[in-house]
Amino acid sequence: MSERQADIGVLGLGVMGANLALNMAEKGFTVAVNNRTAEKGYQLRDENGAVGQNILPTDSIEEFLSSLKSPRLVLFMVPAGPIVDDEMKRIMPLLSPGDIMIDAGNADFNDTVRRSQSVAGTPFHFVGMGVSGGELGARHGPSMMVGGAQETYAALKPILEPISAKYQGEPCVAWLGPDGAGHFVKTIHNGIEYADMQMIAEIYGILRDGIGMSAGQMADIFADWNTRELSSYLIEITAVNLAEKDAGSGQPLVDVILDEAGQKGTGRWSVIESQKLGVGATTIEAAVSARSVSSRSAERALTERLYDGIEHARAEFHGERDGLAELEAALVTAKIIAYAQGFAVLTAASAEHGWNLPLGEIARIWRAGCIIRSQFLDDITKAYEGNEPPANLLHAPEFVTRVTAGEAALRRVVAKAAMAGIPVPALSAALSYFDDYRRARGTTNLTQAQRDLFGAHTFRRLDQDGVFHHQWPAV
Ligand code: NAP
Repeated sequence: MSERQADIGVLGLGVMGANLALNMAEKGFTVAVNNRTAEKGYQLRDENGAVGQNILPTDSIEEFLSSLKSPRLVLFMVPAGPIVDDEMKRIMPLLSPGDIMIDAGNADFNDTVRRSQSVAGTPFHFVGMGVSGGELGARHGPSMMVGGAQETYAALKPILEPISAKYQGEPCVAWLGPDGAGHFVKTIHNGIEYADMQMIAEIYGILRDGIGMSAGQMADIFADWNTRELSSYLIEITAVNLAEKDAGSGQPLVDVILDEAGQKGTGRWSVIESQKLGVGATTIEAAVSARSVSSRSAERALTERLYDGIEHARAEFHGERDGLAELEAALVTAKIIAYAQGFAVLTAASAEHGWNLPLGEIARIWRAGCIIRSQFLDDITKAYEGNEPPANLLHAPEFVTRVTAGEAALRRVVAKAAMAGIPVPALSAALSYFDDYRRARGTTNLTQAQRDLFGAHTFRRLDQDGVFHHQWPAV
């Protein structure tokens, strides 16, 4: 066993754990590592030159823990769920007072709250930390969302800040609140990511099926859009995805990829939590549902055959400058609405759980390192950190101006897609939400009347205070 004492321990050397360990090692920290398959730790040390020299592989959990400085920082990077509980059970009997366990996987925040409560009665500490940026982010600078006791964060900050992504020199990591706050914010980050990706896929569908463009032509368009308001990691990678050729067939690689999208749960959790909180996150819901529908490709093929007689109105999409500018403006506008929904979920969760989530800080740490990173998040930070933080992003003057400017384009794109039979579930969900949210007088007065008729659920009136039940005619 090495005499060297490590600054932190990483338990789990999959894609994320191995890259986070290398990132820490590169910043000069000594990192003890332990993995179910122990050889991976030795490989990590031996295959990474000088950086690898800061990695201390261990063969047992006892050796792993005894190689750590006190208080010990143990970071779990294993699949979310019962494995985290099992690993905690395995190491807790071997910990000393003051030691800190950090679950850095994509946990369900409800599990993080439960784990925090169970550790609260012990002399140890528990931190739930969301990490975004995938493999490259973990290796060169992720965005990290920390939940737990603020005092505990003080012990982690000297390691987390140097390894984090930087936006104009500012670290993309922050303590966001107690117990499940960090994992909740990461979940909603992923929900927004689902919405962003789905809306991009819908615009791709219009370019491909409505205008008839090739993947190569579309790559140029996304690369161009990446120079303006839409500038973001997801638009940038879309251009790369579309430009790539399949070595075997010589065709664009996207054209030979099966159209079934996978999902691991965070999008679904976003929808479940937004529903529990009574917040409409309709673009996220549409994006999650679209992935589910996509996974049923055999059923879709059958349905296409059954409905192949349906005539669609002639698509009026066109690929000239004006037509493309309309698609660009529609995507910008829908994106603002989708982010407003995501932040509305965060606002409601903050009130529900008493977290006092710093919304401006959240947008700030998403500006670099994470999958939804973009210039646009800087505008959100400014909106929340201005003199009068808005109750909803759609109330911020900057966004009122932008949505007002882009709303007509979004409306035309959604209407034309509907007439052409091109599915745009997330774009249309964003538009419908906007139309619903921006009108003072809605239509659920009728819903209330129906509820009162069949279930005596009562209603309130516009012209009188109080709660009323009406004797409706018998039906
Ligand atoms: P991964 O590549 O599948 O690695 C999983 C790690 O957990 C491996 O080290 C594996 O050990 C270990 N492991 C699996 N089952 C285990 C068990 N029953 N007992 C003990 N160890 C076990 O996973 P990953 O992509 O690094 O993801 C880790 C966590 O980060 C997950 O919660 C994931 O959702 C989250 N995350 C992933 C990404 C991403 O882009 N991949 C981004 C953000 C967050 P072996 O080597 O022995 O198999």
